[in-house]
Amino acid sequence: MLIRPCNHSYPERHRVCDIEVDGKYYRILRCVTCSERLAFEQIREESACTSVLGLPLWLTGEHLRRWVANEKKLQTQMSEHLEVTDGLQWSSGKPVERWVGTDEEYDRLQRERAVSEREILDTARALQSRKEQSDRQLLNPQVHP
Ligand SMILES: [Zn+2]
Repeated sequence: MLIRPCNHSYPERHRVCDIEVDGKYYRILRCVTCSERLAFEQIREESACTSVLGLPLWLTGEHLRRWVANEKKLQTQMSEHLEVTDGLQWSSGKPVERWVGTDEEYDRLQRERAVSEREILDTARALQSRKEQSDRQLLNPQVHP
């Protein structure tokens, strides 16, 4: 049985990864608004990408919400330079958008996005490994003579 995805949209609802089971392809999605719940959606083979992961599962809570807020801000900035064309994306039925800003503006926004995304991931990863370390210590307490 599949847990069906909600109707929230990106970036609240985002891709975690794509998997192949018995020749069928599924996307694992997570929605921040729905208590970070995971959902499975069957997708076409052409839109599956099993070799590249989406947002890491260990990015949770406050840091995940920061990533969402950041991504939303960037989308708003980008939308000022997007023009809706008359085409529809065959996979989702959503209108196709075309970038009409300058190349410099596009590069700047993408660079900003990469830097802040890396900061959020690095901080979250550091906290995660500190937590794992203290969990290990709890499970295997050092014996002091
Ligand atoms: Zn949702």
